[in-house]
Amino acid sequence: MTSNYPPIPDWNGAVSALRSAESVLLVAHVTPDADALGSALALGLALRTQGKSVQVSVGESGFTVPDSLDFLPGLDLVVTPEDVVLPDVVVVCDTSSLERLGTLAQAVGSAPISIALDHHPTFNGFGTIHVIDPEAPATAALALKLIDLMDVTLTRDMAEAIYAGLATDTGSFKFQATTSQTLRDAARLFDAGINHGELARKLFDDEPFDALKILGSALDRAVLIQGAVAGRGLVYTKVAASDRGNLPELAMERIIDTLRRTNEAEVAAVFKQTDDGIWKGSLRSKTLINVGEVARVLGGGGHKYAAGYTGTNDVDQMVADLINELDRVSGDLGGH
Ligand code: AMP
Ligand code: MN
Ligand code: MN
Repeated sequence: MTSNYPPIPDWNGAVSALRSAESVLLVAHVTPDADALGSALALGLALRTQGKSVQVSVGESGFTVPDSLDFLPGLDLVVTPEDVVLPDVVVVCDTSSLERLGTLAQAVGSAPISIALDHHPTFNGFGTIHVIDPEAPATAALALKLIDLMDVTLTRDMAEAIYAGLATDTGSFKFQATTSQTLRDAARLFDAGINHGELARKLFDDEPFDALKILGSALDRAVLIQGAVAGRGLVYTKVAASDRGNLPELAMERIIDTLRRTNEAEVAAVFKQTDDGIWKGSLRSKTLINVGEVARVLGGGGHKYAAGYTGTNDVDQMVADLINELDRVSGDLGGH
């Protein structure tokens, strides 16, 4: 696949656009995770120290910060997309395509200066200034570098927002994309005074009791297809809107983290139904399969080992399509 962005991140372009701006809007992708929102908040806090007018938003009508991220610093910067006042510069965090900006897509698409700050290999080329580094373990690592280049002193609040993104996207510094530089970045965050024990517990461990019970039943229903992926195995489960009672779809995010541990499967998938009946797929792989490419073919995107897409209201068809696509891409891997 040819890429739609300059191979060298345009750090100078981003720094000079931000230096000249009086007002900046930072946007995270819809159903924001800790990397998207944490990066936007950290940069927002940094820009505020420079006297700029700052807004942080997500393109979901009436957006409010989900319970799972309500401990992040800088939440007073968050405005609903309906209240966004058009700024001099927009910074889009952790977002590989305009569609992932929801109701803010049009405003961002027509902004005179928009900086795309992202680490998705499937980034598809929107924005006027590109800071795209698919080698970066998290957008938060790029946000930290941008804060340094802007000559802003890293505060504990900025560091906590960055830690949230860095720790989440690296799976607690376990995933392959983690480098010695990632650990040096993390050390700086510790030096800035973050409460990493409490943050890590909130990011990875704390769950409502009901969410744990739903995890249990989702695991109980999981299906292992040993013959899929050319014999390397697919494990999947489904969580319908009716399975999760009053809990939001976001409370189902971590099911994939347990399911992907299945020894017998190279690929794990969790299908989650949204409140409007549409199903979303989350994909994870271990070593051989590039699920980012699989998700791209199926209408989404992501990284080599973690990806997602939005499908239709026919989840059985989505399962069949996934199995077919996995067969297709694993054909040339040979038998197991
Ligand atoms: P998730 O399974 O939702 O945790 O997503 C895993 C990865 O895939 C993240 O890096 C997301 O940014 C990416 N991703 C998830 N859903 C989509 C989508 N609909 N379009 C593009 N990328 C996605
Ligand atoms: Mn993300
Ligand atoms: Mn990310």
